[in-house]
Amino acid sequence: MSNKVLVIGAGGVSNVVVKKCAQNSEVFGEILLASRTKSKCDAIAAQVKNIPVHTAQVDADNLAEVAALIKDFKPKMVINVALPYQDLAIMDACLQEGVDYLDTANYEPKDVAKFEYSWQWAYHERFKDAGIMALLGSGFDPGVTNVFTAYAKKHHFDRMDTLDIVDCNNGDHGKAFATNFNPEINIREITQNGRYYKDGQWIEIPALSVKADIDYPEVARRGSYVLFHEELESLVKHFPEIKQARFWMTFGEEYIKHLTVLQNVGMTGIKPVKFQGTEVVPLEFLKALLPEPSSLGEGYSGKTCIGCQITGQKDGQDKTYFVYNVSDHAEAFKEVGGQAIAYTTGVPAMLGAAMMLTNKWRGAGVFNMEQFDPDPFMDELAKWGLPWSEIHGSDALLVSV
Ligand code: NDP
Repeated sequence: MSNKVLVIGAGGVSNVVVKKCAQNSEVFGEILLASRTKSKCDAIAAQVKNIPVHTAQVDADNLAEVAALIKDFKPKMVINVALPYQDLAIMDACLQEGVDYLDTANYEPKDVAKFEYSWQWAYHERFKDAGIMALLGSGFDPGVTNVFTAYAKKHHFDRMDTLDIVDCNNGDHGKAFATNFNPEINIREITQNGRYYKDGQWIEIPALSVKADIDYPEVARRGSYVLFHEELESLVKHFPEIKQARFWMTFGEEYIKHLTVLQNVGMTGIKPVKFQGTEVVPLEFLKALLPEPSSLGEGYSGKTCIGCQITGQKDGQDKTYFVYNVSDHAEAFKEVGGQAIAYTTGVPAMLGAAMMLTNKWRGAGVFNMEQFDPDPFMDELAKWGLPWSEIHGSDALLVSV
């Protein structure tokens, strides 16, 4: 089977997706890589030898341009690794041309720092009627964390009570301040109020106001903060038994210091300001000054650890369980020329697409990862570079519930 896929976006994640698809040449036969800046597509394509990678320029905010690429190239599906702003236009193009869709981050309007699934879930009936499939959030978190939770429920729990997703980047890229994925999206995510789920309600907290020290297995003990993350929304919808769901992420003191100063002086704002007669969005300007995430790979050392801690019951007994992956920045760079954040996102994007193309995951409509059988995905994760481990019992309790 040698499927054609259209990959949109040519940043850090895309670099990994394209190279991983090329490694999986039994499933992926030919790629059209299209993005706003064609030279970035050409640079990635030049490094892939075993399957044809064509390149094109596209403004993915423009439905007609995306639809024209699909009409011409006739891919089986579109892998969207551009930015969340483009999700709806690309989904519209997929609907118009009748091809499947996959992304790694949920839609976010450009002028409001708000991300939620409502906009994309609203496409369910239209995708269903068209007989095509959309798989949302096929990165690591969201993505693998959704599959980890589904796997825990399938194999280890009759009832899940609490879910804590913990995300540690213990790497060092040697820069004073840089973000590991698109700076604009990253800073919008971190500077908005935190939110977690408890007893059927969302509890809102000031940004970075709840902190705990977490011992990340194989990596380090690190201060971690509660913030809202999109998979919480889909996981409590699809596993309504969960009473409490939180997401924790590590931030170093230097990172928080820089972010606080930038926020205090207004550099993270998303409303345009007039500067010498020109309208400038401070965060967009800041993005232009910061290192490209795709440039961070060289010399990046250290590891990431991302996993799900779950408490609940099995066979009438209380149970605690932790399932996680550890990835290494330097190893990711050696293999694909990218850092571990891009790697841990790009591998599941390729694998989610492979699940769809081989019909191991199939449905008509719009789906989140946890709605499918986790086993075939978990079976292949290690093979494609993301080995995972489990801890049972009291050692699995990394953060108190
Ligand atoms: P980058 O900023 O490195 O890359 C984004 C790419 O999209 C760039 O090549 C950019 O073009 C392109 N792009 C932006 N706007 C358009 C447009 N209108 N039309 C066509 N192309 C466009 O981001 P990352 O690779 O770090 O992240 C990619 C996605 O992955 C993001 O949505 C991010 O949120 C998501 N992500 C998901 C994670 C997960 O675990 N689920 C983790 C990390 C990231 P140009 O080069 O011209 O700027």
